[in-house]
Amino acid sequence: MNYKTHINGGILAGLYITSQMQSINILPTAIFLGSSIIGSLLPDIDHKNSYIGKRVKPVSKVINKLAGHRKLFHSPILYLVLYIGSMSVVTNKLGLNFLFGLFLGIFSHLFLDSLTVGGLPWFYPISKKRFSLAHIKTNSQLEFTLCGILLCVNVVVLLDILKITSIFTFTQG
Ligand SMILES: [Zn+2]
Repeated sequence: MNYKTHINGGILAGLYITSQMQSINILPTAIFLGSSIIGSLLPDIDHKNSYIGKRVKPVSKVINKLAGHRKLFHSPILYLVLYIGSMSVVTNKLGLNFLFGLFLGIFSHLFLDSLTVGGLPWFYPISKKRFSLAHIKTNSQLEFTLCGILLCVNVVVLLDILKITSIFTFTQG
């Protein structure tokens, strides 16, 4: 998937969680949504030509050399361990907000990559086998359609959160 689809996927995950909150405070919500966008791009740091990889090319090159593409940095098990580990260390409320958003974004990325032809190594490093839930090719017409749908849903959910429209009601009360 390209970065636009990943960003929209990360935003959707973040907005959905936000829509379920009883009360919305600006700063925690901004941190949460911002980190979910960062998280949605982060796993592709293992590829030097990805959106994030291009911005930190030297780092990305080293990671790619050591870990390969769509291997360790696309391992749900790794992120689950990191998530549990970091959540038990950080006690600061805004820090927890950031981490929750970050990992939410990361998991949205892993989910979207699972919809591609290449699939995702769900049990890496235990098994290298890749699983694919759909056969969407990166930068294909199908991906552009998916990206467009995600974008539209994001706009609708955002308008709903801002109480501008309630075409579909995602928010509580
Ligand atoms: Zn990826």
